[in-house]
Amino acid sequence: MPKILLSDNELPTHYYNILADLPFQLDPPLNPKTKEPVGPDDLSRIFPQELIKQEVSKERFIDIPEEVQAAYKIFRPSPLIRATRLEKELDTPAKIYYKYEGVSPSGSHKTNTAIAQAYYNKREGVKRLATETGAGQWGSALSFACNLFGLECMVYMVKVSFNQKPYRRIMIETYGGKVVSSPSSLTNFGRKVLAEQPDSPGSLGIAISEALEDTLSRSDTKYALGSVLNHVLLHQTVIGLEAKAQLEKLGDYPDVIIGCHGGGSNLAGISFPFLADKLNGSKPKLRVIASEPKSCPSLTKGEYRYDFGDTAGMTPLLKMKTLGADFVPPPIHAGGLRYHGAAPLTSALYEHGYIEAVAPDSDEAFEAAVKFARSQGIIPAPESAHAIKTAIDEAIKCRKEGKSKTILFNLSGHGHFDMQAYADYFSRKNRS
Ligand SMILES: *Cc1c(COP(=O)(O)O)cnc(C)c1O
Repeated sequence: MPKILLSDNELPTHYYNILADLPFQLDPPLNPKTKEPVGPDDLSRIFPQELIKQEVSKERFIDIPEEVQAAYKIFRPSPLIRATRLEKELDTPAKIYYKYEGVSPSGSHKTNTAIAQAYYNKREGVKRLATETGAGQWGSALSFACNLFGLECMVYMVKVSFNQKPYRRIMIETYGGKVVSSPSSLTNFGRKVLAEQPDSPGSLGIAISEALEDTLSRSDTKYALGSVLNHVLLHQTVIGLEAKAQLEKLGDYPDVIIGCHGGGSNLAGISFPFLADKLNGSKPKLRVIASEPKSCPSLTKGEYRYDFGDTAGMTPLLKMKTLGADFVPPPIHAGGLRYHGAAPLTSALYEHGYIEAVAPDSDEAFEAAVKFARSQGIIPAPESAHAIKTAIDEAIKCRKEGKSKTILFNLSGHGHFDMQAYADYFSRKNRS
């Protein structure tokens, strides 16, 4: 039975909060002016109260509101699929399972937190959300979610993606959101970047600065972030909670869990509910592997220090693995992985040795993606391709060592809007 489905009434009713179980202290975000930990007041201008509460909560389980559960049921629970054809092709004794988040309306896991964030903002009377988007997955997820709850949505989209991925842009507009190319002329910071560097390809750091400036300039608007922060990772744990229930039905449990890593949210989502068992000592051998792009290697090559989440230095200082807030990554197509930093949670878990990280290059990821598409049918997002590459490497290791392990990876989204990136890969390959 290669596909394991849960029924609607098996949808998780709470998120798992790993802050309840960490065996170490997480360094708090700092106010850049005072270098003191930020208080709820510093954040209340940009986030609704409930999300500020969730950001620091130590409660192990946090209820998923009924309205959010109802919206999730449009596409959740998502399937867990055993990649039997890929296993055969790799001639591996390993079992490979993947959780497929491409079934969400916007095509990626980002919808999980978009729905929750739009709901909490709506409940607190917010009228409009401003955000940034890299490749467009987050922008389209938030635009969809804002429409569900009757909020306006304003998206600053990194210029390279805005030009390379017109269909993501149109998707944002189809759901009713407004989208502009970043750096834009709508904000002081955008105008400053454009004056200094008219052909700037943009970056997530720049787009975040613009969305924050937009938020602070209006009283009806709050800001939404698609990754990195604790509350975003929290919402994504619905992925791992479902996967755990699905594997339980088979009497199975993963030896290795893999997710691609940009800001860290889908890796956290698939792995934290299992990592709970490593933290409490019941699964000491569980391995969790983050797969990040070689061209933007924040976990494997970044420094662990306080840094800004954006380029203009408007966010609180976050303790994280970082390549530097002014790092502008090369315009590789895995746009969702082009972020200079990493979630404080995944950074700390990496530093304390609870998770590992690898950094395959873009062509290795595409090679794995094509192999996966030809065996399992789904064409993965270029971001997710990094997780597939790492899962294949682990499965091949199992063959060489003659070990049957259970490998679980998150297929964070489909690549239907990324066919140009595949075309570019094929033409690179034909030339070489
Ligand atoms: C945004 C995105 C990512 C990277 O973000 P994380 O927060 O690290 O999960 C990965 N895959 C897809 C499909 C994305 O849209």
